[in-house]
Amino acid sequence: MADIDEITTTDLSKFGYREIKLMRELIDAWMDQGLPDDFEDEGVQVMMNTNSGNVFLTNSEYQVVMMNGDKLKSFYNCPECGREGFKKEFEKDSDCEGCREIAGADEEDEERGS
Ligand SMILES: [Zn+2]
Repeated sequence: MADIDEITTTDLSKFGYREIKLMRELIDAWMDQGLPDDFEDEGVQVMMNTNSGNVFLTNSEYQVVMMNGDKLKSFYNCPECGREGFKKEFEKDSDCEGCREIAGADEEDEERGS
């Protein structure tokens, strides 16, 4: 299993042109929409996954927000089974307790921003 510190970087000099553009989208969405309610605004950093080329915001709680279409959305990682995705990808009737918790958490998130 690879070390997470080698996969992700906050060093902007390692970002390519494409990743800088993704970062600009994130910052624009942050300014327009604000951060999702369940994202703590402590120790916020722009981070890139050098494997996937994904660019996201993270914080001191290791929470993640990414662009989902033109919306800034929390991106979850199930601590039980390792499933990753936006909330709609987790099911309340999942066999996995961690997934159920993510699916049920923060019910009003969908209505935010409009
Ligand atoms: Zn799970």
